[in-house]
Amino acid sequence: MSKIGMKNPVVEMDGDEMTRVLWQWIKEDLLCPYVDLKTEYYDLGLVNRDQTDDQVTIDAANANKKYKVGVKCATITPNAQRVEEYHLKQMWKSPNGTIRRILDGTVFRAPILAKGITPYVPGWTKPIVLARHAYGDVYSGVETWAQRGQKAYLVVEDEQGNVQEKLLIQDFQKGDGIVQSMHNMDTSIASFARSCFNYALDLKMPLWFATKDTISKKYDHRFKDIFAEIFEKEYKEKFEAAGIEYMYTLIDDAVARVMRSNGGILWACKNYDGDVMSDMVATAYGSLGLMTSVLVSPDGNYEFEAAHGTVTRHYYKHLRGEETSTNSVATIFAWTGALAKRGELDDTPQLVEFAKKLERATIRTIEEGEMTGDLIPLFNAQGITPKKLDSRAFLKAVAKRLENE
Ligand code: NAP
Ligand code: MG
Repeated sequence: MSKIGMKNPVVEMDGDEMTRVLWQWIKEDLLCPYVDLKTEYYDLGLVNRDQTDDQVTIDAANANKKYKVGVKCATITPNAQRVEEYHLKQMWKSPNGTIRRILDGTVFRAPILAKGITPYVPGWTKPIVLARHAYGDVYSGVETWAQRGQKAYLVVEDEQGNVQEKLLIQDFQKGDGIVQSMHNMDTSIASFARSCFNYALDLKMPLWFATKDTISKKYDHRFKDIFAEIFEKEYKEKFEAAGIEYMYTLIDDAVARVMRSNGGILWACKNYDGDVMSDMVATAYGSLGLMTSVLVSPDGNYEFEAAHGTVTRHYYKHLRGEETSTNSVATIFAWTGALAKRGELDDTPQLVEFAKKLERATIRTIEEGEMTGDLIPLFNAQGITPKKLDSRAFLKAVAKRLENE
């Protein structure tokens, strides 16, 4: 059988620990036998990031901009303990943060559904894709304590330092308290909006966006207005043609609607709402091993990855020569997402078809009762007793089904 060809490369960003081990096996068992894999390889493993003074992360992000499509393995974000463990020159920044800054993108997280793995919210029969604005608000907020008798103001100056506006926040006459201020940027909100509109069109899913503009009449209202303006000008007709809708509502109403829905929604959230809701949505669908993540920039660059980390505990077992049962599904789907997008951009339908086949084979493996240990307690299908496979055996079980797709 001849292998499927690729016109342009995918930017491949290798990573750390157990996911680095899975990465190699996925390529060996599921990709290289079928696809003449064309990648531009960047080793984002911590050792190489340290050796290159993290230049490799910047190069990889720039390559992702050049080739439009990247796939990334989970990587260690070093803390003090990692600095010691790896004898690092310094505590390098989160690679995901660096890539996000360079691509200026929005992260979308989507669960992978399989029959037998029932979400904790039984009505959610279709995926809920969550988009989190990753700039500003309380994450770059400024805050302090105030003492009784003090007054706190919000002050705005012009470039020369002349006070333009001075608003009393609170007069702390009656006792001590706390104050907080935060900001966002119109450009960042507009990028976020365009990323969401584009991704909704890609997925052909309705887009919901919510803030608390009735209370926050300037701050949250700005988000609402920027989304509305960009939608009217640039996306309304495209949404009509695609048969999907854009809905704006209040955040509390959105939460109530999401709970009642069957899923099948792209839910755009402000930074804090997205932080909270993404963990709720991820948990409700089952396992971290079934959650994918894609970074989409407003100018159409895509970086696919699994939402989980490097699964350190399993890696140390692996190093001791013990068997592991680590879920590779989200990492497989990172690859299929990247290959399908590559195929779509390059007009290579065989590549898109292969990616879909591999996804079906992966889901079918679980649905037919063969899975990694994390899914066993979640699995419930009549007449099927789930069988726990080790990390490599799961990939072989997928490969066997891929042969018959
Ligand atoms: P983690 O690697 O996601 O793992 C946390 C725990 O969740 C694991 O110990 C395991 O539980 C379970 N788990 C996660 N993914 C799994 C999978 N695919 N299959 C089976 N079980 C899975 O998070 P962490 O331990 O907090 O972080 C480890 C390292 O990953 C850190 O160095 C962190 O910086 C990095 N990280 C990277 C990314 C990224 O690159 N996007 C994201 C998050 C964290 P049991 O041990 O109970 O089996
Ligand atoms: Mg969080």
